[in-house]
Amino acid sequence: MRIVVLAGGIGGARFLRGLRSTLAEETNNPGSGIITVIGNTGDDITLFGLRICPDLDTVMYTLGGGINEEQGWGRSDETFTVREELAAYGMRPQWFGLGDRDVATHIVRTQMMAAGYPLSAVTEALCDRWRPGVRLLPMTDDRVETHVVVDDEEGRRAIHFQEWWVRHRAAIPAREIVSVGAADAKPAPGVLEAIAEADVVLLPPSNPVVSVGSILGVPGIRDAVAAKTVVGVSPIIGGAPVRGMADACLSAIGVASTAGAVAGHYGADLLDGWLVDDADAGTEVAGIAVRSRPLYMTGPEATAAIARAALDLAVELKERRA
Ligand code: GDP
Ligand code: CA
Repeated sequence: MRIVVLAGGIGGARFLRGLRSTLAEETNNPGSGIITVIGNTGDDITLFGLRICPDLDTVMYTLGGGINEEQGWGRSDETFTVREELAAYGMRPQWFGLGDRDVATHIVRTQMMAAGYPLSAVTEALCDRWRPGVRLLPMTDDRVETHVVVDDEEGRRAIHFQEWWVRHRAAIPAREIVSVGAADAKPAPGVLEAIAEADVVLLPPSNPVVSVGSILGVPGIRDAVAAKTVVGVSPIIGGAPVRGMADACLSAIGVASTAGAVAGHYGADLLDGWLVDDADAGTEVAGIAVRSRPLYMTGPEATAAIARAALDLAVELKERRA
C-alpha cells in the first residue's frame, strides 16, 4: 500500500505518527517506503540569514523523536542562548522562537542551499539524521511564501504569515491570504510521481488554508491528487479549530469554521471521504462520504485509531470506485 499525505506542522506531524504506528503494527515494518509526505513550505521564512522551514522541521522532529512534545513544535531540551544574545545586540525580530538546537538545523539547511542544493535534497540530508520512517518531500523547491494582507496603523500592507501568526497571534483580521510565488512554482522532484503511484491520498487535520491549501496551490498538485481516492480528517471540531487559530484563516477566505464547510471548500472533485468528530455527527456534504468518530489526537493510541479510520475509509471508497 502506497500512501501520500499532504502535511502542515503539528496537526500533520501527529497524524503521521499515528499512521506510521498503525502500519507498523500490521506489517512489522516501520513504514519506510510506504508513506510519502508532501510538506508545506508556505510558512518558510528567512531570519538572521537563516532559511527556516517550520512545517518540514515539525514533521521531521516529531517522527524522528526530537520534538518538544508539550509545545508540538521546536526541539526537546531546547535552550535560547542564541536568541538572547541576538536580542542583546538589538537584532530584530524578537518574536520568533528560535532555539539553539533548532538553529543548527537552519545552519545546515542554509549552508547547503548556499552551495546550490535544492530544498528537496537538503530535506533528504536532514532526514538522514532523523530517520522519520517516511519519505519527506517539500511541496516545491521554488520559493513560495504565504503573506497576509492586513490593515493596521501603517495602513493596508502584506506581512509574512509568520509575523501575522506568531507575532500578532492572528488577532489582526486578514483581508486576504496570498501564496506569493505559487503561480510560477513547480512541484519538487518526486512529488507528482509519488501521487501518481499512490493507492490513496490522506489529508491530515492540518490547516486547510495555509497548510493543505498552500500545497494544493502549487500548479499540478491539486489535479494529481484529485485523480486519486482522497480521505481527509477534519481539523475543526464543534465549530472551532482544536488548537491554533485556523478559524482566522478560514474567515479570511470566506469559509465557515465548521467541519462541513471545510469539506465543501476542498470540494467533492478533490475529496472522496471526510472524517468528522462525533460532536459533528450528522454532517452531510454532497458527493463526499462523511463518517464520524473521536478525532482528538490525545495520545498515541487515539491518534493511531484516527489514522486507521482514515485509511480504512480510503480503502473502502477506492474499492467501491474500482
Ligand atoms: P501547523 O502548521 O503547526 O499550524 O499545523 P497543521 O497545519 O498541520 O495543523 C494545524 C491544525 O491541526 C489546526 O487547525 C488544528 O485544528 C488541528 N489539530 C490540532 N490538534 C488536533 C487534534 O487533536 N484533532 C484534530 N482533529 N485536529 C487537530
Ligand atoms: Ca504551518
